Formats: sequence, structure tokens, C-alpha cells
Amino acid sequence: MLIGGFIHQSFIDYPSKMAAVVFTAGCNFRCWYCHNPHLVLPSLIQQNQIIPVEEVLSRLSERKNWLEGVVITGGEPTLHNDLPTFIEKLKDMGYLVKLDTNGSNPGMLSKILANKRIDYVAMDIKNILEPQAYNEIIDVYHPSEVIEKVKTSIEIIKQSGIDYEFRTTKVPGIHTPEIITQIKVQLGPVKRYTTHDYRNENTLMNASCENKT
Ligand code: SF4
Repeated sequence: MLIGGFIHQSFIDYPSKMAAVVFTAGCNFRCWYCHNPHLVLPSLIQQNQIIPVEEVLSRLSERKNWLEGVVITGGEPTLHNDLPTFIEKLKDMGYLVKLDTNGSNPGMLSKILANKRIDYVAMDIKNILEPQAYNEIIDVYHPSEVIEKVKTSIEIIKQSGIDYEFRTTKVPGIHTPEIITQIKVQLGPVKRYTTHDYRNENTLMNASCENKT
């Protein structure tokens, strides 16, 4: 697993828990508002310092008596084949584990959720579940394939029996109240759906422009 960032302690990334945050490097989406371009754009990942997995595990082992959980976020964590092994190691230390995902890898998600060794999943819903609309945000070559995978991931999470939330970053001019309502209708009955306001700072779009000059 490529780890591009680590926060020792956070009160806002795992609901009602004090948790460390592990940021994996690499993502298959290119959300223009992404606040972690250094974990998404290959050229910036190369410039960023990669933290050895063993170092992260060692730091977490030292803190296991006073931290409650670990959030694995990105980038997109499910792109890493050794994610299940990493989660196992966190569980063996006694941590609650939360996974943040863009929902593009239902195969990995299914594998992780099947053995219930994870405690919470937060999945991004970027827009209404239609290829063209979704691609206004994620900017990929095969949006139809992505949408099918995202829909599969939604069902896997809903049926997993594990605590979860779906969430949308609200962008002015795109995520109107009508669009948010439409997303809710498409999701159907869910445990939790939240929205967050878009912040126009340190975005992937800005980083891409700077990288071209
Ligand atoms: S916001 Fe988009 S580009 Fe950034 S890490 Fe999440 S899915 Fe990837």
C-alpha cells in the first residue's frame, strides 16, 4: 500500500471517535474540487514523501491505548490489493476501522465487508447516478462503467450490516436542492446521507493548472 499521509489524531474524520487518519496515495477519479491533489496526480505523488507501511503500523501500535479508531482514506484506498491485510493488522491491534471510498471498486469492497472486519464505511456520491452527470465531477474515460460499479457498491454497503454513510460534496451551480433530492431518491432508504460544502482552496483543478506551467 502506498501511504502518502498520516494524522496522529483527529476528532472529525470518524463520527464520535478519536482516530488516526491514514491517507493512501493514488486515485482513479479526477474530481476537480479534490483537496488532496498530492495523493491523486502521479506527478505530485512522486514529489510527495511516501511513508512506509511498517512505520505507520508502528506509530499506531504506540497509540493503541488512547486512540479509538483508524480512518483509511485517500486517494482511493480500495485500489490497493493489500488493503485487507492492512485492515487485519489494525483490527489485531484492537482498533475500530473506518474506510472512505469513492465506490469504484465493488470487488474489493465486497471482500472487505464480507468478513465484517471493518466498522464503518463512508462512500462519496459525486452526483446523480447517471454517467454524464457523474463525469462532470470525476472526469474519467468510461463513466458508464464507473456508474455501474458505484451502484453495485451502494447496494453492497446497504446490505452489509455495517455502519455507513453516503455523502456528497455540494458544489454551487451543480448540486442544487433538486439534484440533492434526486440523489436521495436514487439512494433509496439509507442509514445516513450527509452533504458537505465545497471549499475553493488547494483543489486538484488548481494543482493541474500549476503543473502545466
Ligand atoms: S475527491 Fe475524487 S479525486 Fe480526490 S481522492 Fe476523492 S475520489 Fe479521488
